[in-house]
This record gives sequence, C-alpha cells and structure tokens, in this order.
Amino acid sequence: MLNACTKWLAKQGWDEAFRGRLPELVETQERYRVAAEAGQLLALLISEVGAQSVDPDKGRLNATYDRAFVGGGGRKLYDAIKAAAIHGSCTVCGVGEASTLDHHAPKDSFPLLALTPLNLVPACGPCNQGKSKNFSTVAAEEPFHPYFDDLGAVRWLYADVCRVAGGGAVEFSVRPPADWSKIKAERLFHHFTRHKLGKKYGYQASRRLATRRRKDTRLLESSGAEVLRATLIEDADSCAVVDPNGWETALLYALADSDWYINGGMKEI
Ligand SMILES: [Zn+2]
Repeated sequence: MLNACTKWLAKQGWDEAFRGRLPELVETQERYRVAAEAGQLLALLISEVGAQSVDPDKGRLNATYDRAFVGGGGRKLYDAIKAAAIHGSCTVCGVGEASTLDHHAPKDSFPLLALTPLNLVPACGPCNQGKSKNFSTVAAEEPFHPYFDDLGAVRWLYADVCRVAGGGAVEFSVRPPADWSKIKAERLFHHFTRHKLGKKYGYQASRRLATRRRKDTRLLESSGAEVLRATLIEDADSCAVVDPNGWETALLYALADSDWYINGGMKEI
C-alpha cells in the first residue's frame, strides 16, 4: 500500500518517516487479523483506541489514504479491493453497488489502520455514509466484518406478506438462529435497523412484485394455486443457494407462504 503511494509521500517529504513505521503498521495489521479470526476484534480495538486516536501521524496517514490511495497512485489497489465484492454488491446491504471502500474500524479513531487492506471493505455509498464515523465500544453495536464474521448458511432474514388497505405489502425482519449468542443476535438487529435494511429491501421487493405479477397471475389461471406455490418455492430455493439471506430469497418464500398471494392477491399488489 505504501509503495503504491510512494510518489505522493516523497512529494510531501513523508516517505522516510512512514518507512520507519512500516514494521509497526504490519504488526498492527497482524494483531488485527489474529483478533478478528478469534472473534476478539472489538476487544483489541477498545485496547488500542486511546493510543491510536492521538497518534502523531494521524493527519498524515489519513491524508495519505484520501489523497494518494483513493485518488492517486494507490487507486489500482483501491479498485482491486472493491472488485473483491461478490457480484459487485455492497457487503453491508447486499443491494447497492460496491462503489466505495469503508474503513471497518474508522480511520479517525484508528489511523494506523487507515491503509490496512483487512480493514477496508467494499460498500455502497449510503451504507458507507450511514455508518457512524465514531467508534462504538458497545458490543451490540459492533458492525459485522465481511471478511471475518460468519453469518452462516442458516436463514435469518424473513419477509411477510401483509394485507393492507387496497392491496398487500411485504415487510422484512430478522430472526437470529437459536444457536447464535445473545450478542451476535443483538448485532444482527442493530445491523438491520442501522442501515434501514427493511426499507431498502421493501423497495426492491415492490419492484420485483410488479414484474412478477403478470407471470404469477397467468400461472395461477392456467395451472392453479398449488403449482404457483411450488414454482415460487423452486425459485426461492434457487435464490437461497446463492444467498440464503438475500432479500429476494426472503421475498419468494414469503410469497409461497401467503395463501392470499397465491390465490389471486398478486393482482391487488
Ligand atoms: Zn450497502
């Protein structure tokens, strides 16, 4: 990372000073990796925030990220990390385009991690901006780390088709698996509300319903409700293979579950 920013660093006259700190930066990343793999990242960050937030090179490290990494010689590396996002999707919401890199541990509090690849995660603009710039020491508010937190293949995102005046609506919610710890479950609720995922998924679902209406209506009329239900489950199973906790998976299972929808409710949505 520093090599990619060398020209700019030399121009500022910071190259030598930064090289001197390189072993320390590498050690900081190694501690981060070991703690994150052990599920102890928050504890490590809490122990380091005091020293890191007043680091004498804070301004210079963060300026190097902003000027040389995002908008200078490091851009190729920036784009390479961004391109690691699966299907190019935001690692936070799974809906938006992964158009930016987010500092998992905010660089204002952790400047020694400003240029650490493991601390840079692809995210969409709204999720990046929606995340607090302040470091929270509250365990229930710890954001999930896409490289280290395993959210498993068990379903935790659900949707329900609700009848409302003049039609139907789809509401998304999270239900943490029973074997998750209390803290992990709380983190999931926090993640869902902090990034307004119910609302974001609701918009996606409403558009998808509009495009399904004709197909589902025709299938109901030609083959009956149970064939429609089986088709929805088949589509949901296919989505679940790719993303068991994607909004589309949750939506399709919810439609298959809704007697109202498969018996003609789709015409009113
Ligand atoms: Zn996002």
